[in-house]
Amino acid sequence: MNLIFLGAPGVGKGTQAKMLSYQLHWPHISTGDILREAVRRETPLGREAKRYMESGELVPDQLVIDIVKERLEESDTFKGFILDGFPRTVEQAEALEEFLSSKKRPLSAVLYFEASTEEIVVRLTGRRSCRSCGAIYHLVHQPPLNQERCDKCGGELYQRSDDQEETVRNRLKVYEVQTAPLISFYEKKGLLRKVKAEGSVEKVYSAVKNVLGLA
Ligand code: AMP
Repeated sequence: MNLIFLGAPGVGKGTQAKMLSYQLHWPHISTGDILREAVRRETPLGREAKRYMESGELVPDQLVIDIVKERLEESDTFKGFILDGFPRTVEQAEALEEFLSSKKRPLSAVLYFEASTEEIVVRLTGRRSCRSCGAIYHLVHQPPLNQERCDKCGGELYQRSDDQEETVRNRLKVYEVQTAPLISFYEKKGLLRKVKAEGSVEKVYSAVKNVLGLA
């Protein structure tokens, strides 16, 4: 299946995408992860993206569109893929549609993860990620055994700089203005499937599989 996971930052799309990708072997393509890696390695893309990411703004459309197209040319995506954090603007969505239709690889569904703003703020500010393996924890909802170390690999847990409160507020504003219009964009195309994203990780994962007819 060719899937998009859509929803506000911090709604849990990344966690769900990782679980589905692990179970079904469809690659999980997170533009946020790709950009963070480029920043870490200080590549030209990373240097360009860094200033936008630090303030919670979106990186220019053309940069991300090129990253995704290049990734979708790789053969592991031909059996299916999960896009997480892309598209984030109507321009990105249109570019993706044009690319996929030229390859005769249409989207199967767009899962829209819904949660209240209060819940999202709690989730973002409590989120911790492993520097080594990328595992995601939450201090309240999915606490690691030790607040500073990853349960899986022992790597250092850190708070993303853009998960600090002021940037979180800006990211949510950016989401409302630039990304929320994609809900009706995909609804009109008959592709939107809503998933209630509150409750435990396992409960949301069952909802994801139900919506996709995989339960
Ligand atoms: P995320 O991990 O998806 O929350 O993304 C972290 C940051 O990376 C965002 O706040 C943006 O600055 C940037 N980013 C990720 N995906 C995109 C995208 N599709 N378009 C523009 N910027 C993006």
